[in-house]
Amino acid sequence: MLNEQELLDLCRRIGLDLAEAATRCRFLHWSDADAARLAAAADATEPAQRQFIETLYEELARFEPLAALLQDPRRVMQLKHSQLDYYERLWRGPYDRDYVLDRLNIGVVHQRVGLDLKWYLGAYRLYLDGMLDAVFDGQRPADEARLLYGSLLKAVFFDLGLAIDTYGAVQREALEDSKGRFARALRGANDGIWDWDIGHDRLYVSSRWAGMLGLSRDTLGEGCAGWFERVHPDDLPGLRQAIQAHLAGHSPWLSHEYRIRRHDGSYLWVLVRGVAENDRRGHRRMAGSQTDISQRRAAAEELSHAARHDPLTGLANRLRLDELLHQALERRQRPGARESALLFVDLDRFKLINDSLGHAVGDQVLVKVARRLAACLRPGDHLIRFGGDEFVALLDDLAHLADAEQVAQRMLDALHHPLQLGERTLVVGASIGIAPLLDGGQPLDALQAADLALYRAKEAGKAQFARYSEELQAVAQRRLNLESALAQALQKHEFELHYQPICRLDPDQPSVVGVEALLRWRQDGRLVSPQEFIPVLEESGEIVTVGDWVLRTACRQVLAWQQAGLTTLRCSVNLSNRQLLQPAFAARVADILRETGLPPASLVLELTESQLMRDCPQTLACLRELADLGVRLALDDFGTGYSSLGYLKRFPLHILKVDKSFIGGVAEDADLQAISRAIIGLGRSLHLEVIAEGVEQPAHLAFLAGEDCALAQGFLFSRPRPPAELERLFRRMGGSDARWCLRSARETGMPA
Ligand code: C2E
Ligand code: MG
Ligand code: MG
Repeated sequence: MLNEQELLDLCRRIGLDLAEAATRCRFLHWSDADAARLAAAADATEPAQRQFIETLYEELARFEPLAALLQDPRRVMQLKHSQLDYYERLWRGPYDRDYVLDRLNIGVVHQRVGLDLKWYLGAYRLYLDGMLDAVFDGQRPADEARLLYGSLLKAVFFDLGLAIDTYGAVQREALEDSKGRFARALRGANDGIWDWDIGHDRLYVSSRWAGMLGLSRDTLGEGCAGWFERVHPDDLPGLRQAIQAHLAGHSPWLSHEYRIRRHDGSYLWVLVRGVAENDRRGHRRMAGSQTDISQRRAAAEELSHAARHDPLTGLANRLRLDELLHQALERRQRPGARESALLFVDLDRFKLINDSLGHAVGDQVLVKVARRLAACLRPGDHLIRFGGDEFVALLDDLAHLADAEQVAQRMLDALHHPLQLGERTLVVGASIGIAPLLDGGQPLDALQAADLALYRAKEAGKAQFARYSEELQAVAQRRLNLESALAQALQKHEFELHYQPICRLDPDQPSVVGVEALLRWRQDGRLVSPQEFIPVLEESGEIVTVGDWVLRTACRQVLAWQQAGLTTLRCSVNLSNRQLLQPAFAARVADILRETGLPPASLVLELTESQLMRDCPQTLACLRELADLGVRLALDDFGTGYSSLGYLKRFPLHILKVDKSFIGGVAEDADLQAISRAIIGLGRSLHLEVIAEGVEQPAHLAFLAGEDCALAQGFLFSRPRPPAELERLFRRMGGSDARWCLRSARETGMPA
């Protein structure tokens, strides 16, 4: 039996409302008179009804499927009673809402017990036939008419049965079409279907759903347990959460990816989608599809792997390192976590291999090196190719930080053995920086710390490891401060040039032949020495701009002094390697000479041995261009470097400057005397001018006089001085050719 709500739902589905009922009654020409007429005859016909019910059940029992339904005599009794109740109601009414709902209910019950419609209709035909005599009680119709009416009833009911069958068949066909379309669409989508009655925990899954897992539908059991117990244990909480979120109304539908176990024990990635609804009977249920997404997943995983690994060595890359570092730092927060460290490995002089043997060989070297480094690590550690020839090792779970040093040493040892690349044998060294992963630190901190330690290892001579320390950090910080202050120094006019005279050693009256421009940085009122800041300017590349400024300022100053009377005064300017390597440097010098008006022959550019040592064709070309301009070239600090005699010939040099470390010792050290003598002799025989640097004492002067060295520079004559101070000296010397009188300088009490 259906409850009232279910009956009203049924009315809605068959489109039966008050208006529809009224239409039907109108078409039947039903009126109150009909109701009154039936009610008036009810009593009189009652015996006939009872009689008819007996006849009906005898008749029903003659047909096979009906007999089966009417086995139980008690049940038959009940049925006869309710049949009689019905006839009562049929004759007496009232024909109201309850009457209609009652009829619908009986119809549903009959349908559910499997009573075919044809028996139902046939019984009405028998009833009408049986009622004929009762209706005509007392004034029986002629036999002929009775028989005729009976035949008509039979034919009409037969047709009625056919009509109902056709309507039903057409509706069924439409339904089957729609079901077929649905099934085809499902087959096309290749998705599994599920429908879960949550309240009664009954799960229906389609054969495709089960087939994806290599199962048949009946092996899954009735409830959702058969589903959930196959979900990967790591994914089960997520799936349950997603379902709960949807049921609680937090998500418009369920859409969740998870792994589910197949028949063979392997796991399949699937996407489950679904929506929850209340069904007709008000039961909460959820239904949807399940798609095999293993291919998409595999492709996505491949992509993600490719994005996180280096194709050459197969090692993890920077992106992956970032993830690994985050995870490692998270682990550090847990109680009892052990130490972790980063090793930053950089191959020494790898560029040389690439440049000389080509990138293909360079690649092979990297692959072999990666293998050797990886072999030095424990299973839980990670090796990452950071870029180029840089590798990072993340060491986890160390008992002591010092263990990281052992790993670093193992790596250095492993690389020590030559690499065999076909015919070729190569030795590749590396420098390593070590830094700990600190609690609460950031991934970048650890990397920077390891990089800083690496820098230290390189600085200390490569092929070794260095550990990060706070002191290293402080030095780097100071250096950074210095760099940023220097970057603004030019703009803030903090640079100035001091000039040191270069003298001709005329025994009677030495004269000033030139000045060397020396750069000074006035920072917060203090003069910073070039030894401190020039390496920083060189490294940052700032030296190129500052060098231009030096050149321009010195040329302008010396020209001014020439115009004031020192007509032959020469201007010496120191060059950094970076400047020389600038494309079109010679052209720039020419521009500056033109701009300032200083004659090229008045300019001396000082180079150091290390610049020539590189022996690069660019440098040679640039020096030739400068020499062609008429500029003179001096080799500074000669004797302190490799002192190769080869480049004295090869490069267009004009002047040799003997380093002050030799001259400073000539008074007491016979070896230094011998070296200085040899250098002076060498210069002379190559027709170079020789200038002795660092002349501080008369004894130095005496030595130079003995060696016939005509030019000198040093504190004995003057320290480097600001232009104004030097001008006062020049003025005191008097005369246009700036005779330098040692005696008078000392006599006038001028500080040297
Ligand atoms: P340098 O070119 O060899 O310059 C000579 C250095 O010797 C100067 O040091 C000078 O002050 C010092 N000196 C001169 N006479 C004596 C002496 O009798 N005894 C002693 N003990 N020292 C003496 P300074 O000015 O500190 O410059 C050091 C170096 O810095 C220079 O060596 C040069 O290589 C570099 N430098 C200076 N200015 C510039 C510049 O504008 N550009 C470049 N690239 N380098 C520069
Ligand atoms: Mg110099
Ligand atoms: Mg020098």
